[in-house]
Order: sequence, then structure tokens, then C-alpha cells
Amino acid sequence: MARVLVGVKRVIDYAVKVRVKPEKNGVVTQGVKHSMNPFDEIAVEEAVKLKEKKLAGEIVAVSVGPTQSQEVIRTALAMGADRGIHVEVPAAEYELLQPVHVSKILAKLALDEKADLVILGKQAIDDDANQTAQMTAAVLDWPQATFCNKVEKTDAGLTIVREIDGGLETIKTKTPAVLSADLRLNTPRYATLPNIMKAKKKPLKKVTPKDLGVDTTPRIEVISVEDPPVRQAGAVVADVDALVAKLKEGGHI
Ligand code: AMP
Repeated sequence: MARVLVGVKRVIDYAVKVRVKPEKNGVVTQGVKHSMNPFDEIAVEEAVKLKEKKLAGEIVAVSVGPTQSQEVIRTALAMGADRGIHVEVPAAEYELLQPVHVSKILAKLALDEKADLVILGKQAIDDDANQTAQMTAAVLDWPQATFCNKVEKTDAGLTIVREIDGGLETIKTKTPAVLSADLRLNTPRYATLPNIMKAKKKPLKKVTPKDLGVDTTPRIEVISVEDPPVRQAGAVVADVDALVAKLKEGGHI
């Protein structure tokens, strides 16, 4: 039965207001709440659903990042993944790690683990790259079905409904394949306390990119990170004449 590899990234929690470091070379991550990337929760849920329907045999959750990345692997294990692989990249190096590196790591693991399916989130909410699934498929030379809204097993492979601009597209693909989960694919379950306890005993292997033969030399240099421009406060005008006068004054009409 199929083995599913799921990518789970540890990101700053979606509810946190992100702050730029005074040095303007990145954002403040120390002492900030982190969680599993929301789209990865959807990816894990889909893998668990496939397992519950007996369409998947084993789910392997992979996270690339510093030691704390193990927290999101444990969450995936508590949601129903069977084992975890932590690809350790020290925090300083991790800041410059790009989707191309992560894709090579995931592709190598997919082959080593003889995975039939790789399910990733459509996008990580920290860098908003939306590249890893596409590049992982390219490195593996496997078909890709991105922005999945529905995944169904058929005799020939998978039938997938994708979210596209202005509608939905249905495609068929053979496996092995790489999928990326969009928002409406499912509603991820909460990890229950008993399952969180059980997850602590599930196997978690640690490797490095070097062990996998992946070169993580940065390909980019961050020049500067800035806060978005602050929105100017609005003004209340007394009547239409005042509004027109203001618009003229600002050179808008
Ligand atoms: P991105 O291309 O960075 O927007 O990320 C898309 C998806 O790739 C994420 O939702 C994850 O499933 C996966 N991914 C990206 N970075 C990592 C990482 N460091 N560890 C595990 N999975 C990752």
C-alpha cells in the first residue's frame, strides 16, 4: 500500500504580528509563537484520510529546519502520521534556505523512502514562495497536482480537482506524484491529548542535508527586509464640495 511523504514546515503562527528586526535583515523569530504551516495541516489531514480509507499504508512527516522543527513533526504524528524525519539545518543557515534546497531534500527522501505520494502545502505563510511542490515534482520528474481541492483514488491513479483562477479544474494523474494542498481540500483535525501522548513514542529520525547529499549553499543574499508602508489616516469631509476640493488639492482630479 502507498507510502505518503508529507512536508510540514514550522512557521511563525498566523495570528502573530510579524516584526522586522532592527538590522532590517529578517523578521524577529526569537520568543515568537510558531506553529505548523496551516496548509501543511491540510496536507497531513489528507494523508491521514487516505490512510483511514486504506489507500495509504504509512505516512512519513518531514520537516526541514532547526531543532524546534521537531515540534511540528510531533503535531503531525499526533494527527495520525506514523513516523517523522527531521532534516536538521541550524537556525542561522535556515534563514537563507530556499525552496530549491527543500525540494531537493524532499525529492531525495521521497526516493529513499519509496514514497508513492508527496503531499505538501500549497504555500508556506512565512515566505509565501509557493515553489516547493512544483520544484520537488521537477527534481523527481513526477507529475504534479497543485492547489488540490479534492483527491480521489481511481484504478488508474488519482482524479484531482484543482483550484484555478475563476474556477475548478479536474485532472487525472498517475502515481507517484506530488500534490499541494489548497485551503478547501479538507478541515484538519485537532490533535487530541491521548494522541499527543502517543505521538511522543512514534519514531523520529534525524538527518542532515549533507547525509542526503544536498548542497544547501545559499543562492540569494537578503539585501533588506522592510515593514509594509503604514497606511495614512483618512479624513472626514463635510460635503461633496469639500471632497472635490480635497481631491483637486491632492492632484487626483
Ligand atoms: P513554499 O514553496 O515555501 O511556499 O512551501 C510550500 C510547501 O512546501 C509547504 O507548505 C510545506 O509543505 C513544504 N515545505 C516548505 N519548506 C519546508 C520545510 N522547511 N520543511 C518541510 N516542508 C517544507
